[in-house]
Amino acid sequence: DKLKESKVFMRALFDYTPLEDKATPCQEAGLPFKRGDILQVVSQHDQTWWQAKRVGDCNLRAGLVPSKQFQERGIAEPLKRGAGLRRSFRLSRKDRRGSSGEANVSDQNDTEFLTYEEVTRYQQKPNERPRLVVLIGSLGARINELKQKVIAENPHRYAVAVPHTTRPKKSHEKEGVEYHFVTKQAFDADAQNNKFIEYGEYKENLYGTSIEAIRSVQAKNKMCLVDVQPEALKALRTAEFKPYVIFVKPRLPESRRRRSAATSPGGGEHGRITEEDLQEMRLSAQQIDQQYGHQVDRVLIKEDNASACAELRSILERLERETFWVPVSWVK
Ligand code: 5GP
Repeated sequence: DKLKESKVFMRALFDYTPLEDKATPCQEAGLPFKRGDILQVVSQHDQTWWQAKRVGDCNLRAGLVPSKQFQERGIAEPLKRGAGLRRSFRLSRKDRRGSSGEANVSDQNDTEFLTYEEVTRYQQKPNERPRLVVLIGSLGARINELKQKVIAENPHRYAVAVPHTTRPKKSHEKEGVEYHFVTKQAFDADAQNNKFIEYGEYKENLYGTSIEAIRSVQAKNKMCLVDVQPEALKALRTAEFKPYVIFVKPRLPESRRRRSAATSPGGGEHGRITEEDLQEMRLSAQQIDQQYGHQVDRVLIKEDNASACAELRSILERLERETFWVPVSWVK
């Protein structure tokens, strides 16, 4: 009698190398995986070691992976004797801080363990609200430009969430088109009431994007594109928005020492870029990858504007047609 095929799928939120794991009962039986891989968990009978397969892997044999509980415990344990068994993949609560800028001072010990996230296949149905598309970019990615271009090409299908601002309206602008123009008092009140997914100051004026602005795009059955600071991801990852997160980073030449001025990446679009600039851009991409990579569905490496636009367009088209992995909590 056949075993029922397991329906439990987990997105790995950490890299796992059995050959480096001193705790494993059998290194050869371990299943290596990378953060972002989808694992089909075949058996959870053992509390410490699950049996799992990698989805999309031709290798049909299941291997051992640390259970969620075991991985969490390994992370939580202080590194006694200077030799912790499990690598630490922790995010502190300060990363969850919303754009309201309020820090959760009370929960310094409250950390989130990045182990596994249970996921399921999801395909948007024709009568369903389109998924929210969230762009985050590292230094030099210029995601706003990218977003605007893709929308301009197809304004019936894609739209931005109209931001709020406290700056005065210019004569060619229309309320509710470029911005919602509001007073400082109104803006502050909305910010207090957590109406914004993010906001910031620019030349002494406040700018921010509200949750309602996203909803009103989706109500028109258009796909809403937002570009935000990665800190906002946490608040956006809800069943309502089912965000698809695209991390855009510029393609950069390999780091070279003893060179002060480099040719610009992206076919000259950036103008003259120094090695220091490049280093900053690499660092920015690295930091986002480290801190937020587990919340990213897709990395888009931007060579130049035109090819990045084409790639983004094709991702958006597939988003409406194909099946994607999403957290189980989004579809229950
Ligand atoms: P402008 O006043 O020229 O329309 O916009 C100036 C700047 O305001 C933009 O370049 C951008 O940096 C910032 N800005 C516009 N919309 C938003 C928004 O929704 N959130 C934040 N944080 N900044 C924005």
